[in-house]
Amino acid sequence: MQNEVLLSYDKTDEDEKKIILREYRALLRALKLSLKKGDKTMLRQAFEMALEAHRHMRRKSGEPYILHPLAVARIAVEEIGLGVTSAICALLHDTVEDTEISLEDIEREFNKPVAKIIDGLTKISNVVDIKGDTTLQAENFRKILLTLVDDPRVILIKLADRLHNMRTLESMNREKQLKIASETTYIYSPLAHRLGLYEIKSEMEDLAMKYTQPDTYVEIARNLKETRRDRGRYINEFIKPLKEVLAGNGLDFEIYGRPKAIHSIFNKMKAKKVTFDEVYDLFAIRIILKSPPEREKEDCWKAYSVITDIYHPSTERLRDWISVPKGNGYEALHTTVMGPGGRWVEVQIRSERMNEIAEKGLAAHWKYKEGAISQQESKLDSFLEHLREILNNPYTDTIDFIQDFKLDLFTEEIYIYTPKGDMRVLPKGATVLDFAFDIHSELGMKSIGAKVNYKLVPLTHHLQSGDQVEVITSSKQKPGEEWLSFLVTAKAKSKVKNYIKEGRRKVAEEGKITLKNRLEQMHSHLSHFNLNEICGYYKKSSAHDLYYGIATGAVDLNELKNFTQHGEKLLQPAKDILNDTATPTLLNEEEVKKILPAKGELVILGDSTGKINYKLAQCCQPINGDNVFGFVTSGEGLTIHRTDCHNAAKLLANYGHKIIKTKWSKDKAIAFLSGVRIIGLDDVGVIQKITNVISGDLKMNMRSMSIDSNDGIFEGTIMVYVHDRDELNKLCIRLAALDGIQSIERIENTTV
Ligand code: MN
Repeated sequence: MQNEVLLSYDKTDEDEKKIILREYRALLRALKLSLKKGDKTMLRQAFEMALEAHRHMRRKSGEPYILHPLAVARIAVEEIGLGVTSAICALLHDTVEDTEISLEDIEREFNKPVAKIIDGLTKISNVVDIKGDTTLQAENFRKILLTLVDDPRVILIKLADRLHNMRTLESMNREKQLKIASETTYIYSPLAHRLGLYEIKSEMEDLAMKYTQPDTYVEIARNLKETRRDRGRYINEFIKPLKEVLAGNGLDFEIYGRPKAIHSIFNKMKAKKVTFDEVYDLFAIRIILKSPPEREKEDCWKAYSVITDIYHPSTERLRDWISVPKGNGYEALHTTVMGPGGRWVEVQIRSERMNEIAEKGLAAHWKYKEGAISQQESKLDSFLEHLREILNNPYTDTIDFIQDFKLDLFTEEIYIYTPKGDMRVLPKGATVLDFAFDIHSELGMKSIGAKVNYKLVPLTHHLQSGDQVEVITSSKQKPGEEWLSFLVTAKAKSKVKNYIKEGRRKVAEEGKITLKNRLEQMHSHLSHFNLNEICGYYKKSSAHDLYYGIATGAVDLNELKNFTQHGEKLLQPAKDILNDTATPTLLNEEEVKKILPAKGELVILGDSTGKINYKLAQCCQPINGDNVFGFVTSGEGLTIHRTDCHNAAKLLANYGHKIIKTKWSKDKAIAFLSGVRIIGLDDVGVIQKITNVISGDLKMNMRSMSIDSNDGIFEGTIMVYVHDRDELNKLCIRLAALDGIQSIERIENTTV
């Protein structure tokens, strides 16, 4: 990291020394309460060891490198609530990987636990540094999850490390910014969420959005800033009567308004298809009660009662996560009430303890382990146990698993009861079969249906909170591929997938024998070379798929007669790679070279000379001016995606070697097909007005328009050719200005 130091950096050695010492003292202060005898010496030793080891290194920003481990240690202590051992590990976290210091040195100078944590941190290399294939990256994600199971401190320090990298992403080049930001949304922020670190998760997502969707981010941030005063005034007006009555009831509390995170505002705008001005809950009111543990539940409900005496609650929006905490340990009461001026306002009520858990998650649980909430402990333990079980299974496809795991995270939870009255927490949308797998995999494998509240239902039945479920099994039952279409939990899905894979593996064994015999008849054999040629010819991405195809008859081995034979070597008939439209397989180097310009060169898109062959992704339909990247697929060449495409994080995080830097050309000769969806009041002549703007005023080329009208509201889809993003924006502004138009938005995906 020491090269390419920014020129704007101009601190003297003296200044730097002061800054470093100031940071170190701040770390000491943060730890003060928890420092035992000898701790301070060890911490000092770790600091000096790291300082010396990174002596000649600088960060991209030009700063001395040691400021990074110092910052990571402070985040670990102040924001995650970890103790002195973790602070020592955070100070040393980059030494084994980047300097002369070895693990043995660390074990000798400190102790075994410290060395073990640093070993874990070193093993999770930054995915960005892994060039090459997907399996390596997937393997790395698996490692991240496995270390979590081993010692959660490793992943907590890793999260601190990642958060600091995200906070200082500014000085990286664009390509690295995109990769690091995608990786963060792909794996780190979901993990922070799962571990209950809401603050960190939220900051990570905001920072990632700043780099993957800079325009939207800046616009929402500006809007938030512009409306801050009004919001402050409203919050004060809302809080004032509450304060008096809460205090009058003998409650000791803190109350304040908090703006929502930028990414969550954006998600709302997208989900509800509304503009910034129409998002009603830009902030939430938070009440933190200073109650002793034995009174906290009672006090929270008391506060609820006081609030709803003053403001009317929405009956649909009461969430009691105190009686039944969320799976990640979150506890609070949430309600939405009608505030002054007819605005809905969300109010969150928590005790100080609950608040610390909401902010520091897992680490706070340890702190309170002695307390009354061992129920939470066991919930986290069983989550870790389940993670370990899945990851240790050799048939688990890690990329797949993470995808399912993430889906589990972001949905709401429902509560289901067993016939004996035990409660299980499942994600919303879970089916009877998910419930069966949640109880026990064996039960899931054998289930054929269930009685829900004494009524017979099929496995596909969606459960509702409060349902009581009795699973019905049969010893003859076997899991089938179709189960995957209605299961929603990651645990059940991975169990069924593994079962099917195991079955396929047995079938594939037969295919392998068939192929072996056939090759022997041809006086050849199953060499690595021949296998590659045969897989290539039948367009199979792995030997396993080939064997399976042979066994099931999908692959016809009679076609082997088209091969040329040199001794034992078989050569497949020649084919035209670029016209090969088969399912994408991993590219070999030769193919990549054919498609791409020289290494590191930027691919310029939208050039009228048409030198580069590329395709615009259907999923996000980029146009000139959008932030984009290229993705190489075998047989299809280069596909261009927007960095804010819903597939982007997955592609960037997992397939680094297939990502190509791209930029739009200044040449605006090429027109792109793009679309807008427009909603408004159905009025005579509305179509006329729209076409006038497009073809008349703006002289744009319209390809199609379809309008649906219902109960006085029309919804239209208009496809136009535009040269760049500015032109599309101009169109949106002009259309929005027409009478009776309610909303207008760019279409993300025209195939839906
Ligand atoms: Mn680091």
